[in-house]
Amino acid sequence: MIFGSGQRHIRADIVIVGAGFAGIGMAIALDRAGRHDYVILEKAAEIGGTWRENTYPGCACDIRSLLYSFSFEPKRDWSRQFPMQPEILEYLRHCVDRYGLADRIEFGAEATSMAYDEAAGRWTVRLADGRSLDCRALVTAMGPLHQPNIPAIPGDESFAGPRFHSAQWDHGVDLAGKRVSVIGTGASAIQIVPQVAKVAGHVTVFQRTPPWVLPKPDRPITGRLHRLFRTVPGFQRAYRWLIYWEAEATIVTFTRPRLAGLGERMGRAFIARQIPDRALRAKVTPNYRMGCKRVLLANDYYPALTRANVDLVTEGVTGITPDGVVAADGGKYPADVIVYSTGFHVTDAFAHADITGAGGRRIADVWRDGPEAYLGATVAGFPNLFVLLGPNTGLGHNSMIFMIESEVHYVTRCLDLIDARGPLAVSGQAQLRYNADLQRRLAGSVWNAGGCASWYLDANGVNRAIWPGSTVRYWWLTRRLRARDYAPVPAGAAGAGAAESAIARPATREVAR
Ligand SMILES: Cc1cc2nc3c(=O)[nH]c(=O)nc-3n(C[C@H](O)[C@H](O)[C@H](O)COP(=O)(O)OP(=O)(O)OC[C@H]3O[C@@H](n4cnc5c(N)ncnc54)[C@H](O)[C@@H]3O)c2cc1C
Repeated sequence: MIFGSGQRHIRADIVIVGAGFAGIGMAIALDRAGRHDYVILEKAAEIGGTWRENTYPGCACDIRSLLYSFSFEPKRDWSRQFPMQPEILEYLRHCVDRYGLADRIEFGAEATSMAYDEAAGRWTVRLADGRSLDCRALVTAMGPLHQPNIPAIPGDESFAGPRFHSAQWDHGVDLAGKRVSVIGTGASAIQIVPQVAKVAGHVTVFQRTPPWVLPKPDRPITGRLHRLFRTVPGFQRAYRWLIYWEAEATIVTFTRPRLAGLGERMGRAFIARQIPDRALRAKVTPNYRMGCKRVLLANDYYPALTRANVDLVTEGVTGITPDGVVAADGGKYPADVIVYSTGFHVTDAFAHADITGAGGRRIADVWRDGPEAYLGATVAGFPNLFVLLGPNTGLGHNSMIFMIESEVHYVTRCLDLIDARGPLAVSGQAQLRYNADLQRRLAGSVWNAGGCASWYLDANGVNRAIWPGSTVRYWWLTRRLRARDYAPVPAGAAGAGAAESAIARPATREVAR
């Protein structure tokens, strides 16, 4: 308990918002850097973020367990190559215990507004229950895929049965024998459908765009491998490196779309192997370049679609009635339960965030035309603010934990600079330069030019989600801090003028390295 009984306001040097992989990784990095004056705010009653929220049947990672974990905290006894949700959550609980974080986390603490006070050079964080904190540096670790995106479908309120999003699975609903409609065929849906099809009476899957799906080389990790991890020095580290480079090598197929052809051949062969029916094959075969949307791994999705109790509907959903779903061709599909497997708010995730920087500028307004940051972490006009897994840090080919580790290291370097120079914000020019280069790199990539609409792109068609290249490059850029890219924002600088100088006139204020 961080707030003592009756205490309404506390001070801390650093506040971290969110106790998922990123918030936990940040806290460990701070302790390692000798910074112990921090608190973690978590709105839920438990740590884990993604791996606490997503408890749908079949929920699993599509990165191998040895890589989807912190490099400094290897787990020697992962049960599978690709871990299921409960095992990842257990791993995160272990990290919290091992690094003594439990009493640094305030649960049930939802940060509802975060405002920078220029006179004091500090952030004030207000919680939903009226409590507040102030701190020198604020780190948001609120999750890139955290806010469920449920499309407004005409008539949805009238549906008589249970309906829920994949990230808010209602385990109180017994699906045995029921008619279940699954809307969406993305990463969660392809894990849900095979599991639900085993118990439901009938499953109707509504597909807007088929995903590219490849075989998942998943299997239990044997006792022999566990023994080698335990007994042979360096073996587990070498194994992790192998997996890392195996994933990293695939980046060329994303940055050079013409190389995606090899994967597409594998994808088509996989469809041919798993789906005998020609009409169904045609329905599930994508007509865009592999990688344009997230490439999915599953051995049981296509077989599930061939089951007698599963139908795939490719006409868009146009309405919901009390007893079913209506498709664009007028077809009516009776349903007892609807599962929205419709993804998350990504490029607009901060649209409702009440974060106010220097000069009273709200991040939602600054990012109205799309979120932009520097290294996905710092934002011009928002001194001493760090956004973990911010804009353009998402990956289509490797582990997000690698990005988190690189980024939290970078934040510790920024904090050193703040110690030395006082409040800092990335200069507007550095942020502009950085994003111009980033968008140039994305321009010819499969994410932008692969011929699909995806959640990587914002409403204006600009890619705000993906890191455009190798993770080695991100590691390299975040290893050292370019102090000249940061402008001091002196405490006491008043009003909008200070914000403008941080954003528009950086050259006069930049700190030379
Ligand atoms: C179903 C699913 C599968 C995925 N699979 C993979 C995969 O295979 N490989 C991969 O690399 N990545 C995967 N991801 C991405 C995954 O989100 C990241 O890998 C990683 O877990 C993100 O960690 P995080 O801490 O940034 O965010 P989260 O895990 O989302 O944690 C954010 C935390 O912040 C808290 N929070 C949010 N707002 C507030 C607030 N205002 N006040 C207080 N607390 C708040 C939340 O309650 C949550 O606990 C997947 C995501 C999903 C949803």
